[in-house]
Amino acid sequence: MTKYLIVGAGLFGATFAYEAAKKGHEVKVIERRNHIAGNIFTKEVDGIQVHQYGAHIFHTSNKKVWDYVNQFAEFNRYTNSPVANYHGEIYNLPFNMNTFNKLWGVVTPEEAQAKIDEQKSILNGKRPENLEEQAISLVGTDIYEKLIKGYTEKQWGRSTKDLPAFIIRRLPVRLTYDNNYFNDDYQGIPVGGYTQIVEKMLASDLITVETGVDFFDKKDEYLKEFDRIIFTGMIDEYFNYSLGELEYRSLKFETEKLDVDNYQGNAVVNYTDAETPFTRIIEHKHFEFGKSDKNKTVITREYPKTWKRGDEPYYPVNNTKNNTLYKQYKELADRKAKNVLFGGRLGQYRYYDMDQVISAALNVVKAEIGD
Ligand code: FAD
Ligand code: UDP
Repeated sequence: MTKYLIVGAGLFGATFAYEAAKKGHEVKVIERRNHIAGNIFTKEVDGIQVHQYGAHIFHTSNKKVWDYVNQFAEFNRYTNSPVANYHGEIYNLPFNMNTFNKLWGVVTPEEAQAKIDEQKSILNGKRPENLEEQAISLVGTDIYEKLIKGYTEKQWGRSTKDLPAFIIRRLPVRLTYDNNYFNDDYQGIPVGGYTQIVEKMLASDLITVETGVDFFDKKDEYLKEFDRIIFTGMIDEYFNYSLGELEYRSLKFETEKLDVDNYQGNAVVNYTDAETPFTRIIEHKHFEFGKSDKNKTVITREYPKTWKRGDEPYYPVNNTKNNTLYKQYKELADRKAKNVLFGGRLGQYRYYDMDQVISAALNVVKAEIGD
């Protein structure tokens, strides 16, 4: 049997741990934070499950992953339908007929398409090469100016001209009156929160978990003691930034308890202007249809910020420069860290959603341990 060390008790590490223990392997999980579950950590406050690290909605079209995650929690039928607030004007997201009607007064899909075509003609048929061009080619200049430019430049801390087009392609554009933010077949929020999923994954007698422990405090000892290491922290930090720093975006979350029943009428409201310093406010009780106490609510404002060493690295910045550097780290890892597998959003430097993390972890388990 192999002795595994898993660095990071997030979804990737926990999925690997669960599968390895199921196959009889001994696993130790160490986690730098003082709790398990990584960024999907939720905590109950006044009967409300608070998403400590930003709104997390599980959505997937991968039936295998959906069945897999449903072993660990029951999911409610929550459908994400954020609204955008642009200087007090409210628009439906993602970009759909409701958005187009409010903005332009158009009623039919044909009218909406004509308006988009007219506005995107400023690109003269050019293939979009950055986020700005991609956004204009998908929804035209009005939506780009009101709902995309300000939000995106706050979120990523750079011009939309310097961002990869794929980021905006995450969002659906629809010529139907459908405010569902995702196109996926399955969607929901776990009843009782996300933390229980990771708790159940780590519950085996073959798994020991230590929180508040940093791998780098005893890196050399761990490398000697364990046969294999699954590392879900930052790949550049693992190599002491020897090839240079990868860029990340960090966030500051400002959470407030309020003695009101319903603060904003929706779980997620995006502030898409450039002046408001936060990108969104989430009101957690609406993820569970406001079932908690009538006179209490919890809201979180999300402020994007530049990552520097010591901050939490929430998002990889997958532009060409960083992807090239990541590749160099990956080559270094293949040569110099043969007993270490790098996984998850930080280990693989990829803008993974939860379902993709589970799928990636299951693939690694298959390659590492077999079916
Ligand atoms: P993480 O959760 O980051 O886990 C890695 C863990 O490793 C961390 O807990 C970290 O503390 C620990 N660690 C790092 N270095 C060390 C070290 N040296 N020693 C010990 N421990 C260490 N996905 C969706 O599907 N839907 C959503 O709605 C959604 N919303 C999101 C909103 C925000 C604001 C963010 C940031 C992400 C969102 N995601 C969403 C993505 C989701 O959070 C990730 O896909 C998932 O949490 C990644 O899991 P992971 O295990 O790779 O990483
Ligand atoms: N976006 C935007 N306006 C919005 C919401 C999203 O311009 O109101 C853009 C922004 O660039 C963001 C990207 O779409 O980074 C992807 O949005 P998503 O909601 O997937 O972001 P995440 O949940 O990963 O923060």
